[in-house]
Amino acid sequence: DAIAFKREPLEESYEIGDDIGSGHFAVVRRALHKKSGEAFAAKFIRKRRGGGRKGAKAEDIQREVSILRLLDHENVIRLYDVYETGIEVILILELVTGGELFDYISEKDHLGEEEASAFIAQILRGVKHLHDHNIAHLDLKPENIMLRNRSTQSIKLIDFGLAQRIQGKEDIRALMGTAEFVAPEVVSYETLSLATDMWSVGVITYILLSGASPFLGDNQQETYHNITAINFQFDEEYFSNTSELAKDFIEKLFVKMPKKRATVDDCLNHPWIRPKEPLELIKRQSAVINIDNFKAFMARKRWKQSMRVVSLCNRLSKSILLRKSTDTMGSRNTLDEDKPKLLPSVRDQSHESL
Ligand code: ATP
Repeated sequence: DAIAFKREPLEESYEIGDDIGSGHFAVVRRALHKKSGEAFAAKFIRKRRGGGRKGAKAEDIQREVSILRLLDHENVIRLYDVYETGIEVILILELVTGGELFDYISEKDHLGEEEASAFIAQILRGVKHLHDHNIAHLDLKPENIMLRNRSTQSIKLIDFGLAQRIQGKEDIRALMGTAEFVAPEVVSYETLSLATDMWSVGVITYILLSGASPFLGDNQQETYHNITAINFQFDEEYFSNTSELAKDFIEKLFVKMPKKRATVDDCLNHPWIRPKEPLELIKRQSAVINIDNFKAFMARKRWKQSMRVVSLCNRLSKSILLRKSTDTMGSRNTLDEDKPKLLPSVRDQSHESL
């Protein structure tokens, strides 16, 4: 059933501040609750109108909200309130200020496996909360793993835009998510399950330890091929300081059959996360992540992102020039009229997945 959202003006209760992020159909801004003085994040999701392709479908927004309302865990973003206007739905979310976990790590000079496994353990605890509620996130990737703030190093999983309830009777299949992080069943359009998230945890851990992406090919097709063929290895070049325990943890996740893949409880009990013998603890203590290659990975990622923005701006300015030239030839259309239509789409694409 459709959930009703608050229709009163958001501005009555919140003072809206700066932009702090954006996604495909959403802009996230700081929001100050006037009464309590507490800061939140307001996620403005544009609603799809009629048969257009811009904006999120009503049912998708409803799903995201109903899932967020079920969840309540320190490692999962909390939803406090929902407003609605004619053009958008506004989620009042817990504010996170520590940025993406991967950005935080790339600023460090050293990271031991001990700390790395503590971060993965937090991700797993968040995922366990979802999975205990039969919810699959289906878009676990570095961009969606944030730090509440820089001092506590507390992880928050965000962006439940693709999350689904896995109920058993419904067969969910979809080709979605970011190529590098998706499981074989996503690529081959087979049934998705909670195990689909666990594969992504494996990819995230692999990258965190080595700065290399396990299945990334030169193009999307090659990446998909590598995933379905489970074509990966622990190259000595990147994994020379990695413990065998960490590799074993990853190997238990890169399993083609979802039913045979390690579950979130298996992972939380894995000796890399919870050492059972002193020797396991010692091995983990002496291993380190490949911070130099990790920094290089993040630099490449930022470079790719900025190239996307540059090429998009080029396309936009070309289209403006084209419009201008057609305007002077015939119909009247000022540049000012174009602005509101063009600016949001720059925001849309700048955070596009790589
Ligand atoms: P996508 O198109 O990637 O699926 P989306 O439109 O669903 O994204 P989100 O990923 O939820 O939007 O949010 C977009 C960006 O806004 C995030 O990448 C993050 O940088 C920022 N953001 C989201 N939620 C919060 C929050 N609670 N606090 C601070 N920043 C946030």
